[in-house]
Amino acid sequence: MQKVYGVIGSPVRHSMSPAMHNDAFEHLGIPARYNAFHVEPKDLREAVLGMKALGIAGFNVTIPHKVAVMEYLDEIDAAALDIGAVNTVVNVDGRLIGFNTDGLGYLMSLKTAVKKPLAESAILMVGAGGAARGIFFTLLKESPRRLDICNRTLERAEKLILPDEKKVSKAITLGEAEKNLGVYDIIINTTSIGMSPKMDEIPLNLENLRQGAVVSDIIYNPLETRFLKEAALKGAATLNGVGMFVYQGALAFEKWTGKKPDIKRMETIVYNHLGGTQC
Ligand code: NAP
Repeated sequence: MQKVYGVIGSPVRHSMSPAMHNDAFEHLGIPARYNAFHVEPKDLREAVLGMKALGIAGFNVTIPHKVAVMEYLDEIDAAALDIGAVNTVVNVDGRLIGFNTDGLGYLMSLKTAVKKPLAESAILMVGAGGAARGIFFTLLKESPRRLDICNRTLERAEKLILPDEKKVSKAITLGEAEKNLGVYDIIINTTSIGMSPKMDEIPLNLENLRQGAVVSDIIYNPLETRFLKEAALKGAATLNGVGMFVYQGALAFEKWTGKKPDIKRMETIVYNHLGGTQC
């Protein structure tokens, strides 16, 4: 029987996940379909119970449900509990189990762009919102030399860093980060600055960027934010958010099917949707 998968979110109409996963199912000869389901926050509980009752084999969870969905699941994986958000649910014999593949997806993407081992790298994250959480907890496990966070609202960055992590991690203001930018090997924008309607804005001034730094933005629409454009002009290696999106999807696909999808095919589908070319 054909299995059904999907994504729940609001808005979800422009999601690229159905095209990406349906192509992977077809390519691997798996009889399954993946659909986008628009779910308003007030309907989340009924939607999750409905997925369970209908025997939906697995689903992704996107904005704004990644935290709220947790209370309706039967089990949550330890890493997702640390991160405090779920983006992937697997239905195992009627039990809904929550995972988070965003952080690991980002890490896998980052590793395609950096040459220096992360354990020898000083990393600066800009932003302390939902996406930053998964990335922060995943990068910490790589034991970087430093993993600092700057954010418009400093308290939010401070809250992310647990007491045990204060030796490697510090919450700093945007001004401090700009002044000391030269100490970082990798700079990651996790804010929404650079995305519509803030496409002309930049989250951090890159004047003091060090030679050989890698600058990454988790935004993928536009493919090249103003932040990445300026970093490239300064000679930095850059990485957009497509890789994170593709790898989080590939990891979810593997959890559902036990099979590894073709990353290049997934990437091509995303680039085609966004009207750009692969780097
Ligand atoms: P979020 O929870 O709303 O966090 C937004 C972050 O941006 C916060 O740190 C916020 O700072 C900062 N920010 C927003 N407007 C700002 C402004 N005008 N000036 C300074 N800082 C500002 O959002 P999120 O869910 O983390 O998503 C963030 C971005 O990541 C979005 O663009 C999203 O599309 C992208 N994303 C990409 C992927 C992927 O697969 N590539 C996955 C998830 C998310 P404050 O704390 O001060 O408000």
